[in-house]
Amino acid sequence: MDILVVLEDNNGTIHRMGIESIAAAQHMADSLGLSAGAMAMGKNVDSLATEASGYSVDEVLSVNHELLNDYSSDGYAEAVKQVINKENPTYVLFGHSYQVRDYVPKISAKLMRPFLADSIAIDFDGKDVSLTKQMFNAKLFSDITPSGDAPFLISFQSASFLSDNATTGTAKKREVVINLDSSMIKTESEAPFKESSGGVDLTAAELIVSVGRGIGKEENISMAQDLAAALGAEISSSRPVVDSGWLSPSHQVGSSGQAVSPKMYLALGISGAIQHVVGMKASKNIVAINKDPEAPIFEIADYGVVGDLLEIVPKLTEAIQSK
Ligand SMILES: Cc1cc2nc3c(=O)[nH]c(=O)nc-3n(C[C@H](O)[C@H](O)[C@H](O)COP(=O)(O)OP(=O)(O)OC[C@H]3O[C@@H](n4cnc5c(N)ncnc54)[C@H](O)[C@@H]3O)c2cc1C
Repeated sequence: MDILVVLEDNNGTIHRMGIESIAAAQHMADSLGLSAGAMAMGKNVDSLATEASGYSVDEVLSVNHELLNDYSSDGYAEAVKQVINKENPTYVLFGHSYQVRDYVPKISAKLMRPFLADSIAIDFDGKDVSLTKQMFNAKLFSDITPSGDAPFLISFQSASFLSDNATTGTAKKREVVINLDSSMIKTESEAPFKESSGGVDLTAAELIVSVGRGIGKEENISMAQDLAAALGAEISSSRPVVDSGWLSPSHQVGSSGQAVSPKMYLALGISGAIQHVVGMKASKNIVAINKDPEAPIFEIADYGVVGDLLEIVPKLTEAIQSK
């Protein structure tokens, strides 16, 4: 297998970034004429492997082990390292999740191979691969060409590839046996970090109501939360809202926050600064409410409402609730 996607478990289903990585792997496999597969790991990954086998990849590997029941960077890094050593992939792809940020550097150190983290795009020149990475908070882009001996460990930023673009198919499943014992696991993790108080990962949210400085004051946040609740949406924000302490840092979208790609991103009183836009421009539908008709957010919005959000939002919530 030339390209191996390492999937992440999101409460019994594949984390959306894993499906985005499958889309990336399919794109690489088509462009380079390579084979691609995916691996799921945990105590019992049958359902995850079955879900993955519904995508057009050559093979899905299941790695089941008692010591992978709970996440630990030591256990996960050792498991992936052993699979890499057995399967010899050239490229190993991950979604750039919190978990991946935690354990993949350990694989990199174990194998003495670089981790090309948080890439946003991939390009090909013949058989050469070039990865694009944002620098200085997305003010500059750099292109990186991996060289030297494989494997190359690569993670993609959320929404760099769209999960909807992952082609479905029928992949065969195979069990891979690894050797783990408790002496190898010296770290113990706390409960997984959740990006929102509702317990749903913002990067996996389908609907997002996002609050900007235009909300005016902390007391008005509940207005946006009511709208989010009526829509069944998650709540996020621009940086000034977090800097003011009105929402916790985990809600921030942008170059120094989360990158999201929901089906609908409703921006309330957000001007559309580049540092915010890089985190949400992959949203499928962007709806903006802003009192300034010249606000840059309207340049990327699919639907725009020029008006005072403090008047519009309560009426919108009421209208949705009455449905
Ligand atoms: C290194 C660096 C990293 C950064 N990282 C991030 C990041 O990750 N995420 C991020 O968001 N920002 C980030 N920023 C900040 C970014 O540059 C902007 O300052 C920020 O995004 C602006 O937030 P805003 O749109 O909420 O506020 P503003 O730019 O102040 O916009 C407020 C908007 O609300 C509108 N408005 C006001 N009142 C109302 C009303 N009653 N009804 C309707 N509309 C109204 C205004 O017309 C205006 O367009 C970063 C900046 C730097 C320098």
